[in-house]
Amino acid sequence: MYLSVVIPCMNEEESIPGLVERLAQAIKPWKDQAEIILVDDGSTDATWKAIEAAKLICPQLVGVRLSANRGHQIALTAGLEASQGDRIFMLDADLQDPPELLTDMMFMMDRGFDVVYGRRSERRGETMFKKATAHLFYRFLNAMSDVPIPQDTGDFRLVNRRSLDAVLAMPEKARFIRGMFAWAGFKQVGIEYIRSPRELGETKYPFRAMLRFAIDAMTAFSTKPLKLATRLSFISLFMAALMAVYVIYSLVVYQTAPGWASVVLAVSFFSGAQLLTLGILGEYIGRLYVEAKNRPMYFVSEDTRDVAPVSRRLRA
Ligand code: UDP
Ligand code: MG
Repeated sequence: MYLSVVIPCMNEEESIPGLVERLAQAIKPWKDQAEIILVDDGSTDATWKAIEAAKLICPQLVGVRLSANRGHQIALTAGLEASQGDRIFMLDADLQDPPELLTDMMFMMDRGFDVVYGRRSERRGETMFKKATAHLFYRFLNAMSDVPIPQDTGDFRLVNRRSLDAVLAMPEKARFIRGMFAWAGFKQVGIEYIRSPRELGETKYPFRAMLRFAIDAMTAFSTKPLKLATRLSFISLFMAALMAVYVIYSLVVYQTAPGWASVVLAVSFFSGAQLLTLGILGEYIGRLYVEAKNRPMYFVSEDTRDVAPVSRRLRA
């Protein structure tokens, strides 16, 4: 197998027919040595039916169905683990990222790059809010992150087997796949493209999901928030020392208790700092807990290739 295409799908019944058609066209040059893996991430609509129907027209299609919704990054991981190709192409089901870019990505990979990612030079048809938050997110993440993560870059990319194996060897459950590829190292390059609007269906990343994703990314790739907690506590201690001097001074000089202002100020500042610090600790401890449980990330309930589902393999 030369090329694997991996696509996570959650409630994408409308997108799948058009997706498979356009993709089959884009991978024509590698047709006989290619597989297209569609992962149904616990959809509540007819996505699995659409996958089975598409398989009748496109024999190189493989459907993998997860037992429940596990989220974009884990669905993608399931597809990557099921892939057998030497080169693996990842994209979304909604055709926001043009599959035709594969030709250029292949070209760059032939030049010796291990990872060729798509970089959005422009996002069309997305709300100002999404564009602005995404812009801020990538900048902020990079400022915080311990490894440089390419800006304005999603999971739309072509990777080779050795870089994929490196990422799949990472056992963490809170997965931020684009960052994991950056961290794995290897030779990477970006290709600019214009991200088109979603054609059918609606976004599966409402603000809440984006925020969760951003916090996952931040905690997985940076320990700076923890250091921020320490730094904040230094500042609080310093302020408290100043406050103590002031309190003693006014007690001695004015013979009066200081007014409520300083009390309110102190209480609000320190409780704010403490809450923030506790919150940051909580984020990391919560993740340590999830990693410590070490649960399988997902279970496959159906696979059109008819291999034993992962859950059965684990028990065997
Ligand atoms: N997706 C998924 N599981 C989820 C959420 C999303 O498999 O829980 C898939 C979705 O079907 C799509 C891709 O992840 O193929 C990206 O989602 P979407 O296009 O909604 O995100 P956006 O482009 O709006 O950021
Ligand atoms: Mg999309």
